Amino acid sequence: MTPPVAARATQSAASSLQSRLKDPSLLRDRCYIDGAWVGTPEFAVNNPATGVELIKIPQLSADDATTAVEAAERAFPAWAKLTAKQRSNILRKWFDLIIANREDLALILTSEQGKPLAEALGEVDIGAAYVEFFAEEARRVYGETIPTQRPDARLLAIRQPIGVCGAITPWNFPNSMITRKVSPALAAGCTVVLKPANETPLSALALVALAEKAGVPKGVFNIITGDAPPIGKVLCEHPAVRFVGFTGSTEVGKILYRQASVGVKKLGLELGGNAPFVVFDDADIDAAVEGAIVSKYRNMGQTCVCANRLYAQDKIYDAFVTKLSKKVAEMKIGDGTEQGVTQGPLINMEAIEKVERHIADAVKGGAKIVTGGKRSSLGRSFFEPTVLSDVRPDALVSHEETFGPLAPVIRFKDEADVIAMCNASPFGLASYFYSRDIGRVWRVAEALESGMVGVNSGLITTEVAPFGGVKESGLGREGSRHGMDEYVEIKYVMMAGV
Ligand code: ADP
Repeated sequence: MTPPVAARATQSAASSLQSRLKDPSLLRDRCYIDGAWVGTPEFAVNNPATGVELIKIPQLSADDATTAVEAAERAFPAWAKLTAKQRSNILRKWFDLIIANREDLALILTSEQGKPLAEALGEVDIGAAYVEFFAEEARRVYGETIPTQRPDARLLAIRQPIGVCGAITPWNFPNSMITRKVSPALAAGCTVVLKPANETPLSALALVALAEKAGVPKGVFNIITGDAPPIGKVLCEHPAVRFVGFTGSTEVGKILYRQASVGVKKLGLELGGNAPFVVFDDADIDAAVEGAIVSKYRNMGQTCVCANRLYAQDKIYDAFVTKLSKKVAEMKIGDGTEQGVTQGPLINMEAIEKVERHIADAVKGGAKIVTGGKRSSLGRSFFEPTVLSDVRPDALVSHEETFGPLAPVIRFKDEADVIAMCNASPFGLASYFYSRDIGRVWRVAEALESGMVGVNSGLITTEVAPFGGVKESGLGREGSRHGMDEYVEIKYVMMAGV
């Protein structure tokens, strides 16, 4: 194993973050293939809050991706043959190690991604919760016996691991998007090759370092970093890979869908959203404001389930906008490691430009900036959390995902109109609404075209519930017992001659 960066005097760029870690060996600058730390550090990973380079990581090629897939292919039979309990025990150890190192993992996460430390700790905890849940679920991959249609035969269906899995993950949740894919795969008996986002590979490398410590055998969990398109092509087209799990943009999801069709590969796609957040006249307004803050401004609005367009009903419109903007104006912007900061930097300058484009478009249509609306005086990719009122229902923001701290509030009159506006989107990941009328709660929850609905809650992600979208927001579900379905095939066995 390559020694941790502390041992190498030349790696001074890493030293500041590393000196703040309780276990400096969690900061890695190599990829992990077939149980070995490989590659030459050459590609810079920067802290978005400071612009300072944290470390360099390898830029591996398509050939390296093939090597990783072949390692996963070799490791598959032995891993699949272990008993469910043996795999469960190893996953449980991984969970324990993640929890034991949660502060270091959160610091690495904030340093490479920018979200406030408290949010990073929350992400590490939910990331760990997936590992714990699927360690338990490993022992419940039940099959079934089927009442026979002929007297001399008995029928059954067993569930077997699908095989080698590719995983491609985004920068907005660099820890939990990985465990949410890798832990059900390993629990089912599959092996994995993961490509994390280039912006945030350090959380991924720290997680695999802990998996190695937990006793995950060589070749079972591999990580490669580098140019995404050629690596993605190998993961989609190599015949040994049987499933690819992806979280990211709809645009890239469609590329992967096309590539995977060559080998008729199964895909899990968690793609973009454009979540509506509706506040009805009968809602608890304070609760709706709290929910909107959590849903909209968590991770500076850079989550695929975050409220993208807010609809408030006529009678409560003004009160909702006033209360929401008051809270938003009080938010503290800064480096996520500083005490009290609730809004870190956006991931890069393109993210800032998109927010600005959405604001300019809405304002051109008559919207008013109630709070925020511009870049922060801190510079870089810091942006003031923003609330817009009097936004027209056809503004750009109601069609495109903003992925930034912008809450555009649109006025509506009645239930049928707002449902139609919510559903007039090619996306369907999450929706939220606030109401205390039980009849309306059922009607609206059933009518919304999205894979997930939060009623009187702005935060719905949990390891025990199925996460996923409809329409162009994706295919399949992650988390919950349904999350395991992606990683198993059903085999029907007829035993005749009985
Ligand atoms: P975002 O816009 O949020 O960065 P992307 O869909 O571009 O979302 O990225 C999500 C993940 O997909 C990242 O790991 C990225 O490197 C990877 N990716 C980007 N383009 C491709 C591609 N053509 N093939 C495979 N993976 C890709």
